[in-house]
Amino acid sequence: MAQRRRALIVGGSIGGLLAGLLLRQAGWDVTLFERSAGDLADRGAGLGVAHELFEVMIRVGIKVERSLAFPVHSSAWIGQDDRIVFESDRYWFGSAWPIIYQPLRKAFPTSDYRAGKTLARVEQDANSVTAIFTDGSREHGDLLVAADGVFSTVRRQFLPGVEPRSAGYIAWRGIVPENEMSPKAHKLLIDTSAFSFPDGEQTLSLPIPGANNDTRPGHRRYYFIWYRPANSARQAELFTDATGRSHGVSIPPPLIRPEFIAEMKQAARTGLPPVLGEVVQRAAQPLLQSITDMEVPQLVFGRVALLGDSAFVARPHVAAGTTKAALDAACLADCLRDDADLATGLQRYERERMAFGRAIVEHSRHLGTYLEAQLKPAAERGAAGIRDPRQIIAEYGAPHLVHQLDWDRLEALQS
Ligand SMILES: Cc1cc2nc3c(=O)[nH]c(=O)nc-3n(C[C@H](O)[C@H](O)[C@H](O)COP(=O)(O)OP(=O)(O)OC[C@H]3O[C@@H](n4cnc5c(N)ncnc54)[C@H](O)[C@@H]3O)c2cc1C
Repeated sequence: MAQRRRALIVGGSIGGLLAGLLLRQAGWDVTLFERSAGDLADRGAGLGVAHELFEVMIRVGIKVERSLAFPVHSSAWIGQDDRIVFESDRYWFGSAWPIIYQPLRKAFPTSDYRAGKTLARVEQDANSVTAIFTDGSREHGDLLVAADGVFSTVRRQFLPGVEPRSAGYIAWRGIVPENEMSPKAHKLLIDTSAFSFPDGEQTLSLPIPGANNDTRPGHRRYYFIWYRPANSARQAELFTDATGRSHGVSIPPPLIRPEFIAEMKQAARTGLPPVLGEVVQRAAQPLLQSITDMEVPQLVFGRVALLGDSAFVARPHVAAGTTKAALDAACLADCLRDDADLATGLQRYERERMAFGRAIVEHSRHLGTYLEAQLKPAAERGAAGIRDPRQIIAEYGAPHLVHQLDWDRLEALQS
């Protein structure tokens, strides 16, 4: 019997776990290497989920239950005076990062999950690929999957200079338990995904499950993301901690300087519709990130394949980072099933996923055009400076690329 082929997966987040689980099913021997020694589930906030993500989770044997995502049956544009300006039946499902990550982590065999291993570089020849770690150890395989995220060590080795590009705005995110919302904010917001469009800015907020996936009324949480223009000098300030250390384009939440959080909460009080301002002010530990996007010209380098955020990063408006990673993983496993020739399979993977990656990044830029234009003087913004909230609500997400959850179909798949 032929020896099983070995895949080395670098990165143990959602993309890496799904790729690992699917390749195992496709007949590969898989070992996964994750830099973090701790529990990734401690991090993360609200997360957009699409039908395709759950289909892939079902494929790897996860029981997909309705508690994994919370339905929100309408979208509303909340005016600056708290009135609903426009309502549409565009519906959404909100979830949270740990809710998706945890079952995947549990499904992946602990014996093949090496935590605390940081990849330093990759070497390869005609017969094998070698992962070299910062502790000096080496692992050999037939394939290396780079699921090491937006600052991928692997991408930087093979595509030096390809880096996420700032879109000229940042996002504050936060979560508030629904029982801490005022009755007025709760009544107006809890059953809707609310968009607001303060001058030059944008918010989106929606309910997500509470602790332990609790979707019972009274136990849910309310999540917001608030986009604000920020030039490079401002971003440099925001991502520098109190000791003067710069963290680049994101910063661990506890290190965000208290004066920036206070300033943001003051701006929420005066600049957002009051119900949303109140939600933002109540967020215990806001998160801050720079909005960036990135595309690569190539996904495959010999025996190395980029996957998920290591390759294409779309802005969060498409709410599809995890779904894209899941679809990449499914495509890779399908292309490399059983005895498929590696080079041919990888070529097919590259062809199929490049097209999708480009399309989703492009749509995310389109959705952020208005925010990006804000850094220019008003007279130079042209059509980009004009926003149509109704159109933004209609095009939010990427309805032409990924689909809303259809529980009936998902349940049929599992019966
Ligand atoms: C802890 C965490 C929380 C997140 N929370 C959210 C959220 O709340 N909302 C949202 O929309 N998206 C969130 N994301 C991003 C989201 O998971 C991704 O956009 C999507 O799932 C595709 O991710 P990925 O698996 O390709 O890369 P990522 O999710 O970025 O994971 C990359 C993994 O690779 C590891 N890694 C990086 N470099 C190395 C190296 N040299 N050697 C070994 N391992 C390495 C990282 O530790 C990380 O676990 C989060 C990601 C992480 C890691």
